[in-house]
Amino acid sequence: MEKSAKTMFGEMKRWINKYHTPFYLSACIIMILLVYVLVYNTGGIKYVYSHTMYIPILICGLALGRYWALLIAVIAGVLLGPFMPIEVTTGESQAFINWFYRLLIFVLIGGLSGFASEINKANKATITGLLYHHMDTELPNINSVKSFNETHVVSGECVFLSIIIANEDSIVTTVGMNGYYEVLQTLYMKIKDYLPDDAFIAQIDSVKFWAMTGNKEKRFSGQELDDLFDDKYIVGSRPLYVDANIGFLRKTLKNAELEASMFYECDIAAYYARKHHLTYVDYQDTVEHESKDMQLLAGFTEAMDNGEFYLVYQPVFDLESMQPILFEALIRWEHHKRGLIMPDKFISMIEETQLIHRLTDFVIKRTLAKLTEFRVGGMSVKMSVNISVRNLYDPNFCDKILHMFSENKIDPSKVELEITENLMMEDSQKGKKVLTALSDEGFSISIDDFGKGYSSLAYLSRYRLNTIKIDKEFVLNMAYDKTDQNIVKAAIVLAHELNCKVVAEGVENEKTLKMLKTMNCDYAQGFYYAKPIHEDEVITWYQNNMGK
Ligand code: C2E
Ligand code: CA
Ligand code: CA
Repeated sequence: MEKSAKTMFGEMKRWINKYHTPFYLSACIIMILLVYVLVYNTGGIKYVYSHTMYIPILICGLALGRYWALLIAVIAGVLLGPFMPIEVTTGESQAFINWFYRLLIFVLIGGLSGFASEINKANKATITGLLYHHMDTELPNINSVKSFNETHVVSGECVFLSIIIANEDSIVTTVGMNGYYEVLQTLYMKIKDYLPDDAFIAQIDSVKFWAMTGNKEKRFSGQELDDLFDDKYIVGSRPLYVDANIGFLRKTLKNAELEASMFYECDIAAYYARKHHLTYVDYQDTVEHESKDMQLLAGFTEAMDNGEFYLVYQPVFDLESMQPILFEALIRWEHHKRGLIMPDKFISMIEETQLIHRLTDFVIKRTLAKLTEFRVGGMSVKMSVNISVRNLYDPNFCDKILHMFSENKIDPSKVELEITENLMMEDSQKGKKVLTALSDEGFSISIDDFGKGYSSLAYLSRYRLNTIKIDKEFVLNMAYDKTDQNIVKAAIVLAHELNCKVVAEGVENEKTLKMLKTMNCDYAQGFYYAKPIHEDEVITWYQNNMGK
């Protein structure tokens, strides 16, 4: 309802804008005729009603400026002059000087109001210019969406574009800020030339353009847009290229006004294009799943508050005694709409944001609570948690987790921290510092997914490691794949040389288990021994399986 009132109002405004002069001119003429009728019917010019004539003259001046207002003032003055008696009943006519003086006053009022309105309009145009354009490039900015709506209504199949420049830094370094503005202006003109005349195009920020066309004639091709960037730009005497990513989206609209929110999806497509090293991406084709991920990410905090996360624990067992020696905490998300979501679907996304701190805190807290339960039950067992490298960048991480441990009166030696190999490879002095500090406090450090990451082994000696977990990719098929077998064998030797214990993860059958034993592997983890166990059942599982 609100929407349709808004649309109706918008349409009315557009109509008046389009027929501004004839609309106000005819309205003023009708008004002066009505005033004439009013004055005549109330007895003639002798009575007070003739002053009503100021209204149409003022309106005309304000709406149409000096010249139209002067014309209207003259017509009004003449109508209320020779054509209007002093007293209708007697028919007595006015003296020339009377009506002519009134006419001059009308002309003065029309002229002054028109002049004032022209000054006002000029000021408004300057302010609007500043409001709707960038100071540096003088190109239309995001506010120009509003001015576009004053003259256009969008309907039918429309194409929305987001064009994001990827090499702003190198252009600025080469030709300076002013040179970069020149490039933006040239690019703007190129896009404008490519799109139909009535297309909307604006520079949204220093690297982004938005464009929209609802013109059906235009057959749109991403390749053509791509070609816009093939040309060399010459700034000063320096040649340069603009590297951009383009997201586009087709949307069918019905008598809608353009809104900034209509471009957000093509922004997502453009960022997707950048991430995947593509020039242009159609939102519909490729991005929908990415935006699902975004939704998942957006719902993370609420899901945490609503208790949608829980832990499962998977035992690691000693290959000699075949007893569980440690439980690894693995997170699960019971999504209120999508059901169970496994960590592979969300962890990497969460790790790219600060949300990983909240997740790791949750896992550590929950695991410490479980350890307390174990202790109360007289069970002595270790636990391990997966730590993201981003946690290590948090300067408070070490203090924070030490605090949690002391609050729960649990010794750090009871918990192993698992960090993924390729994450450790990211050169990080800070990360190394935190890991060393944690190790000094008594935590065991385990390197996860060993073998999956980079081939350089130099980092192994840089960290103080206790355990190496060979990635399950090599273990799953090692019973049948000679290469995997050799890799696992070599990894075990290497780990032992570095005084580390070795866990083989992904042990699914007895043959693998036996092979690992002959290779002197210390521990194993896998579905053959136990699948991850729900946190509520882990104590019962432990009691039933310990000593078997
Ligand atoms: P990960 O740390 O390497 O954990 C081992 C994964 O292998 C687990 O998958 C486990 O269920 C699976 N697995 C164990 N044994 C077998 C087997 O015999 N065969 C097969 N096919 N798979 C086996 P899950 O629970 O889906 O976790 C996947 C990854 O998500 C984990 O890999 C870890 O990198 C990450 N993750 C899980 N929980 C957390 C967490 O709390 N924090 C962080 N930062 N990452 C987590
Ligand atoms: Ca792990
Ligand atoms: Ca692993």
